[in-house]
Amino acid sequence: MTGSMLALVKERPEKGATLIKTQIPVVGDDEALVKIDYASICGTDVHIYVWNEWAQKRIRTPHIMGHEFAGHVVETGKAVRGFQEGDFVSAETHIYCGHCYQCHTGHSEVCRNLQILGVDRAGAFAEYIAVPERVLWKNSKSIPADWASIQEPMGNALDTVNAESVSGKTVFVTGAGPIGILAVGIAKAFGASLLIVSDLSDYRLDLARKMGADVTLNPRRDDAESIVRSHTDGAGVDVVLEMSGSEKAIHQGLAVLTPGGRMSMLGLPDGPVSLDLSNEVIFKDIRIYGITGRKIFSTWQTVSRLLSSKLVDPSPAITHKLPFEEWQTGMDAMVAGTCGKVVLEISGR
Ligand SMILES: [Zn+2]
Ligand SMILES: [Zn+2]
Repeated sequence: MTGSMLALVKERPEKGATLIKTQIPVVGDDEALVKIDYASICGTDVHIYVWNEWAQKRIRTPHIMGHEFAGHVVETGKAVRGFQEGDFVSAETHIYCGHCYQCHTGHSEVCRNLQILGVDRAGAFAEYIAVPERVLWKNSKSIPADWASIQEPMGNALDTVNAESVSGKTVFVTGAGPIGILAVGIAKAFGASLLIVSDLSDYRLDLARKMGADVTLNPRRDDAESIVRSHTDGAGVDVVLEMSGSEKAIHQGLAVLTPGGRMSMLGLPDGPVSLDLSNEVIFKDIRIYGITGRKIFSTWQTVSRLLSSKLVDPSPAITHKLPFEEWQTGMDAMVAGTCGKVVLEISGR
């Protein structure tokens, strides 16, 4: 397909982005061209938009950002076998090589030659995107397209929750951003017996309650440790899901994690964090998991089932659905933290 399309482009190496007309991408032999119905804004897009240190090092302008989407295949390259025109799709954003040590040992989410959609190549805040077949995911038609657009971050949440079983367990989620509140819904679906959530924003704590949190606390005014202990007969929680990247929250999580428990960490601290390893980790006999990306494609399989069965209803987490032209409103809300997931309606209206 040739012609022009609307796309949100970072034109220059500075803060901002512009909605402009640009060329529809040309599909490679192993790629499909997807017409985007919905795309949702990720923290990564915010980093690119505000042009933080990471973005300055990683992004080459002009660049189309965005990587969380749902859409329909409109064209396929000649080597594409598993997809055809009209398929309802999303994509795994970690484009793995398939031949490095990690890819060979079942860890393609941390492929050593990883390329990320919307970071290392043109993204989804556009009417069309070209996607390699190996990361395309066929959606069930029973999933609403706006829900389908948030499966990628939901996959992060799922792997954080399910590093070990949460069935019957008490869980403390530190950080109620979009992925934190999706994790709340998922932990509930997998049978967590108690969900306590902390965040510095009361607005976000409210969303956490709507997603199924039993207890919420704001460390600005609440004593997290005494609240968690009062709800767990003094024992502390079995599981901590660290979603904030805040050093304070990490220490707080470790303090209330019961000896023998486990912590999964998804939130990214800005820099090095110091831990008292002897007392906070080793003598407590705990397990800590670092989580990045999603298992390709077993995580997608589960996320898709959670959504099509409505075992997890993500609606409270999708706080904004905006026409593409109003992307700035959504980006401002993301920067201010006054939102859950922000979904842009590109062709899906
Ligand atoms: Zn994302
Ligand atoms: Zn690889």
